[in-house]
Amino acid sequence: MGVIPALAIFIANAGAQWTVALPYDTAQATSALGAERVGPMGTALERVKKKLEAILSGSTGNVVIDVKWEDPAGASSAADSTSYQFYFQTVAVARDKIRNQAEADSEPASEIQLYEALPASSVPFYWDTGTLRQAGYIALPSALNQHLQFQAHGGGSDARIRVRPPSATQKWQFWLVKPKQGYEVFDLVVLHEAIHTLGFHSRGEATELPTALLTWDLLRVPESAVPVSAASFPTIARELRPSVEASWITKLGTVSGAYKASRGERAGGDGFQASHWRSSTRLSPPNPIGVMDPTLVSADLYEANGNFLLSRADVEALDLIGWNVNPSAHVYSNGNPVNLLSPTPGQKIPANAQITFQWQSSPNPVNGWLLFIDEAEAPYDDMPVRAFDGLTSASYVLSAAQSLPPGEYKWEVTAQHELGNQHSADGTFTILCPADFNGDGFVNGNDYDLFVDAFDVGDPSADFDHDGFVNGNDYDLFVEHFDVGC
Ligand SMILES: [Zn+2]
Repeated sequence: MGVIPALAIFIANAGAQWTVALPYDTAQATSALGAERVGPMGTALERVKKKLEAILSGSTGNVVIDVKWEDPAGASSAADSTSYQFYFQTVAVARDKIRNQAEADSEPASEIQLYEALPASSVPFYWDTGTLRQAGYIALPSALNQHLQFQAHGGGSDARIRVRPPSATQKWQFWLVKPKQGYEVFDLVVLHEAIHTLGFHSRGEATELPTALLTWDLLRVPESAVPVSAASFPTIARELRPSVEASWITKLGTVSGAYKASRGERAGGDGFQASHWRSSTRLSPPNPIGVMDPTLVSADLYEANGNFLLSRADVEALDLIGWNVNPSAHVYSNGNPVNLLSPTPGQKIPANAQITFQWQSSPNPVNGWLLFIDEAEAPYDDMPVRAFDGLTSASYVLSAAQSLPPGEYKWEVTAQHELGNQHSADGTFTILCPADFNGDGFVNGNDYDLFVDAFDVGDPSADFDHDGFVNGNDYDLFVEHFDVGC
């Protein structure tokens, strides 16, 4: 592409103009997931879109990331991604553009200082051996390229995420309930891959000697070099060797201004690839750095990050890669715990009655509550008996017409806040068999006697068809169900 002069005139953005699209092919998704799971999958992608737009709320661009239900390259990978890259003619052009955009975005002085200390002509780096190399170019993913206003979106997609179709060993959880054992949290895996395509990516994994570095690599130095001074920063060789520990610089002149980066191991994809934080299993004590941690399964990451999908490190990384982030985008779920009120634990509910679900949580979540109802004993299969998403009040009435078959159930509620989520514990309730009049779990002579007693005195409990009257219809209907049993 053409190169725009580095010192153009910059106009601060009047407001966020950042949009993300995560399109998928419905036929392909249907064939991979079955028709009934496509809707929940699409809703999950909508959440990821909103999350990305919230993180990069000060940025500009219309980014399109295709989501494909296709096997990723790595045999053990759940997902992978690729993005289009733009190469800039010189290091100085890219550096100045990033620096000037940061100024236009009113980024902190420490960040601008860091960009100003980047090399002007070429970037020294080590890749696979101790041979000192020089990169004369900077590569930017298509999405970041737009934010830096090198080039507007030209149509088509900027990147692609491939997600492994479900199988006995690869299960996806599309509902934003508490993580379920054996399932990967789809939201989190897609977010992880999407962040790779936004520039959280390293040339340390290139299979051929790189000629250009990514902005992430510009900040990647040997661990032994930390803290890094402004004077030494341009000349320190960027560390992309698989054999040398690397740190990722967020500030100059301080040891705390660095995160541990994974080494650039390439062959075989051992989960330690350079495009990630250092794996938590290599830290003592193990403590995940963020969504870009390479080893933890997604449910563990989600819980470790406080039911939120990102850490402060992830957000800082996106910021320093060149985006304009919402600095509070990593904050712990911004709500209080969700307490279930009714039905009360184990409550027995007559068949065909309406059920009022009630819970208490504050503040009201901007993305609503999810009410999720499933059979008590059934293993999780991502197919709830009933689910209601985006509820705007802390209660839901399941009408008699929507009644559940007799059996034991569990239910849970998720409050979906702007930045994170809060999950309730599991509640339980039982829907009685229609003729189980005393609610003891059996249909026998006791039920018959009690019903007749109630019927004889016209007690409302004998209004079996719930029409407001106790009459022969109730008696006939009761006997019908009594004969069927439970
Ligand atoms: Zn990754």
